[in-house]
Amino acid sequence: MIEIKDVYKSFGTLEVLKGINLTVKKGEVVSVIGGSGSGKSTLLTCINGLEPINSGSILVDGVEVHAKTTDLNRLRRKIGIVFQQFNAFPHLTVLENVTLAPRKVLGMSKAEAEAVAEKQLAHVGLADKLSVYPGRLSGGQQQRMAIARALAMSPEYVLFDEVTSALDPQLVGEVLDTLKLLADDGMTMICVTHEMTFARDVSDRVAFFHKGIMAEIAPSNEFFNAPQHPETQKFLSNIR
Ligand code: ADP
Ligand code: MG
Repeated sequence: MIEIKDVYKSFGTLEVLKGINLTVKKGEVVSVIGGSGSGKSTLLTCINGLEPINSGSILVDGVEVHAKTTDLNRLRRKIGIVFQQFNAFPHLTVLENVTLAPRKVLGMSKAEAEAVAEKQLAHVGLADKLSVYPGRLSGGQQQRMAIARALAMSPEYVLFDEVTSALDPQLVGEVLDTLKLLADDGMTMICVTHEMTFARDVSDRVAFFHKGIMAEIAPSNEFFNAPQHPETQKFLSNIR
């Protein structure tokens, strides 16, 4: 379980998160939506300890992320994160990109790591691209490779930050299908997204961020059928 309790976070004098409270249970899928600059990405980077927080606490399975004694490397093995931009190593094949962390971080043998990577790459529909270099993949394939790379670490939680935003429209569907499969498998996920159909159909709950505040959070049906907060209503009417 991920427990976010009254988290405040500033960059210099800019307050980016202003008292965020959110609990995500095992197996739950929570979509986070909201305008640009509302603090969505910052929240994800705070959850896996990439960014410090000013006050409050974030607990992952009871371990306080920002406690001095917390082993961040160990924690990050538990929490995968996939970003909007593809950050593949261009000089490594797809298979090598996916086996890298299991070998270096988990200490798997080459054969072990390849077995895991092949399984995950098959899962995202890239079984025939193992020996291809990332530059030869489409944007959607690169993003699916990034998802396989995160999954190869056997995380218990995966954070997705607008993983379809940089894609050509015709490639968005294949990546969303991959996320849906993962959700159906019971993965615990927090997805920052602009894809409202995905948020409505795949997530259990949807949270709306506005200027560093979580203005609204509700089960996805409720959220879209009867948004309560004026800013949520405004946001949804602008994108429909
Ligand atoms: P969102 O993902 O909702 O678009 P972000 O969390 O990326 O928003 O950013 C929230 C605010 O924090 C923005 O004003 C952004 O410019 C600022 N910000 C994000 N990261 C940094 C950083 N590393 N240093 C300074 N300001 C940052
Ligand atoms: Mg962002």
